[in-house]
Amino acid sequence: MSDATGAAELLLGLPGFRVLGVHEEPGEVIVVIELVADLVGCPGCGVVARAHGRADVDYRDLPAFGRPARLRWRKRRYRCEERRCTIATWSESSPAFSARCLLTHRAGRECCRQVGLNARPVAQMTRELGVSWDTVMDAVREHGEPLVDDPERVGEVRQLGIDETNFLAATKDHATLFATGIVDLERRIVIDVVPGNNAQSLGAWLDHQPPSWISGIRVVATDLAESYRSALDGRLDHAIRVADPFHVVRLANRCLDQVRRRVQNATLGHRGRRRDPLYRIRKLMLAGAERLEGAAVDRMLLGIRLGDPEDEVLGAWLAKESVRDVYLAASVDDAQLLIDKAITGCTEDSVAEVRSLGRTLARWRAEIVNRHRTGASNGPTEGLNLLVKKVKRAGHGFRSFANYRLRILLHAGGVRWTETRPPTPTIRSRSPR
Ligand SMILES: [Zn+2]
Repeated sequence: MSDATGAAELLLGLPGFRVLGVHEEPGEVIVVIELVADLVGCPGCGVVARAHGRADVDYRDLPAFGRPARLRWRKRRYRCEERRCTIATWSESSPAFSARCLLTHRAGRECCRQVGLNARPVAQMTRELGVSWDTVMDAVREHGEPLVDDPERVGEVRQLGIDETNFLAATKDHATLFATGIVDLERRIVIDVVPGNNAQSLGAWLDHQPPSWISGIRVVATDLAESYRSALDGRLDHAIRVADPFHVVRLANRCLDQVRRRVQNATLGHRGRRRDPLYRIRKLMLAGAERLEGAAVDRMLLGIRLGDPEDEVLGAWLAKESVRDVYLAASVDDAQLLIDKAITGCTEDSVAEVRSLGRTLARWRAEIVNRHRTGASNGPTEGLNLLVKKVKRAGHGFRSFANYRLRILLHAGGVRWTETRPPTPTIRSRSPR
């Protein structure tokens, strides 16, 4: 490219635009551009329009060679000469520029990739591009909503997972606000997030899905929430219901924690401290027994002997292990035997918390055993919870549910990002070989 003006256009990479000048101002590069003039018809009546002055409009583009770049578009204004036309004046527009905010299309798309795909805080993009928080978030919505709404994003689902997540932690003004995550357990993606954790919100969402999509679902895994169970009744009766193993084990872990705290309080008169025998072994107790090595087991048993005079913590630990054993079973028959042992053991226990665990296990017995009939994986909801946490950390507490949903789906919803940016060709390094 020998023509200097042509070289500038090549670098700019916006077909139809001409570069009028490039200069540097403190901290950024300014590229003054215009649309190549053409005969312009009125968008209302099609009559050839008349030029009617210009106005400079500044847009933020992606950085150019390491410096922030600002495109100063010398926009022409036009007037319609046709007297019967209702359109008086308008100014130039281009699909390369956002209609909603002062970003180029490509800068907006990059905001969406960074905030969505990479779960970066909006505030970081705000600083990098020198635009407002609203501008970045407008771009995330403009580019992200079509990706999330793409009917191809989810497709057919055979194993559905339903899981509660908290959307907003409690403050002095409101209790914890919950949301319900709906996931595809096989593709490991979040299909949707709906506000609330009650039967109505999940039921309404299910009613909204095409019947053919619903009938393709073979397995539904939920946590142990009665609200979800009742939302599924009558809507997904054809699918096998599974209690998500991660949540079943977590329930047993929580029972153990409760008993440990209560015993700590009763024996020591205060909450756990670093040197308290039970507090010191709290993590060892939560680990699966099969994962502990000899010395760790000795340490744990010593802690229990020191801090648990009535063997209540020991009882809760054994109950927790009996629940874990169910998932070590190799067959449905073994699983049935082991869950019945766990239920009997828990419901006959002398500790109230363990009896309560036993009653919950009994209510969900069929769903717990079903896990062995379907082979539904227990990884996905746990893994997706971590992704959701990452988005939440980047969001520093969401105020808008719509933004929360959008960002979770962009990050973990199986969005096809490859179509938004082709891979960068590699530059090969010169290797001595
Ligand atoms: Zn007109």
